[in-house]
Amino acid sequence: MPVFSSHDFDDHEQVVFAHDHESGLKAIIAIHNTNRGPSLGGCRMWPYGSEEEALTDVLRLSRGMTYKSALANLPYGGGKSVIIGDARLDKSPALFRAMGRAVQRLAGRYIVAEDVGISVADVDIMAQETRHVCGTSKGGAGDPSPATAYGVYMGIRAAAAHHLGRDTLEGLTIAVQGLGHVGYYLCRHLAEAGAKLIVTDINEEQVQKVAKEFDAARVEPDEIYGVDCDVYAPCALGATINDETLTVLKARIVAGSANNQLHEPRHGGILAQRGILYAPDYVINAGGVVFISHEGPAFDEARAYAHVAQIHDTLLEIFRRAESRKIATSEAADHLAEERFRQPPEKQRATQRSKETVAA
Ligand code: NAD
Repeated sequence: MPVFSSHDFDDHEQVVFAHDHESGLKAIIAIHNTNRGPSLGGCRMWPYGSEEEALTDVLRLSRGMTYKSALANLPYGGGKSVIIGDARLDKSPALFRAMGRAVQRLAGRYIVAEDVGISVADVDIMAQETRHVCGTSKGGAGDPSPATAYGVYMGIRAAAAHHLGRDTLEGLTIAVQGLGHVGYYLCRHLAEAGAKLIVTDINEEQVQKVAKEFDAARVEPDEIYGVDCDVYAPCALGATINDETLTVLKARIVAGSANNQLHEPRHGGILAQRGILYAPDYVINAGGVVFISHEGPAFDEARAYAHVAQIHDTLLEIFRRAESRKIATSEAADHLAEERFRQPPEKQRATQRSKETVAA
């Protein structure tokens, strides 16, 4: 299996394959870049079809975390880990303890948190073996999903202000795909703001609950792309902006929590050509990581939420840059993030020191 020549290898600093015979752990930890600080990123548990698939996922996700942390101005780099296994069948305390030990061996270069398939309880078990963990139940910030949803809500407001000249979401129609941890809380914010909701999920129970609670219209999962709406908010799967969906998409804005929404980078350009404003995924969905970055003995929830709200202004900056440079918003976001993390560590530290001197 190629690593350095893999399509998704992007100058990653370190890729670790972790194995534990007793518990059956098979995991990959990828550290993309630590120029801004230790790499931070969730652990995903997924029944990957092959080891290549798992590697591709962890390489892409860890790179995404570098960009996400840089744009959220966090003192962290990008990392991620994946456990190859079925979260419904293969979990055990021994497995998560072994994962905790694998994280501990990296001596703080990677800080683990939860992601798809991993619960706060699983993170708690990892924390028995490593200090380098975020999002535990004890003294931690806990489930980051409500903060992610709040960040997406603020991002939708920024997009509506910039693209539709609207300072409220009142009366706008928003199509939400995926009503899980993030989608549910997002629907609540949107409904409170007076938006009309069209929702879908493959989980019928969840659809019924949201439709009833927020007076939302519902459609079948494959109908969501073509509905008449102002905003399409993907909160389920990645790669939903692709050649097929673009033929039916009627939304004027794409803004949701899903990771890797563009099937290929060129799809960001196609959205821009069509006059559809895209809120780059790793900018708008950074609320969770921003929130957990505040974790610690002096955790202040209000302060953490105020930090999450800055996603609004970061997006406005990206939208304006994209407009003035006549590039796609996805490209403008990448450029801004690269400006922030490409400096070598010594220079990052010097910049930080001079900022501190100015602040003092
Ligand atoms: P989740 O698993 O709780 O919810 C996902 C929902 O999508 C589920 O209800 C599922 O049934 C539904 N779904 C799956 N396939 C679907 C389909 N084809 N059509 C419609 N619905 C479908 O996950 P989550 O934590 O809410 O995260 C949602 C997305 O946001 C994911 O892409 C995740 O990577 C991303 N994200 C989440 C966070 C967070 O804090 N939870 C942070 C950043 C990014």
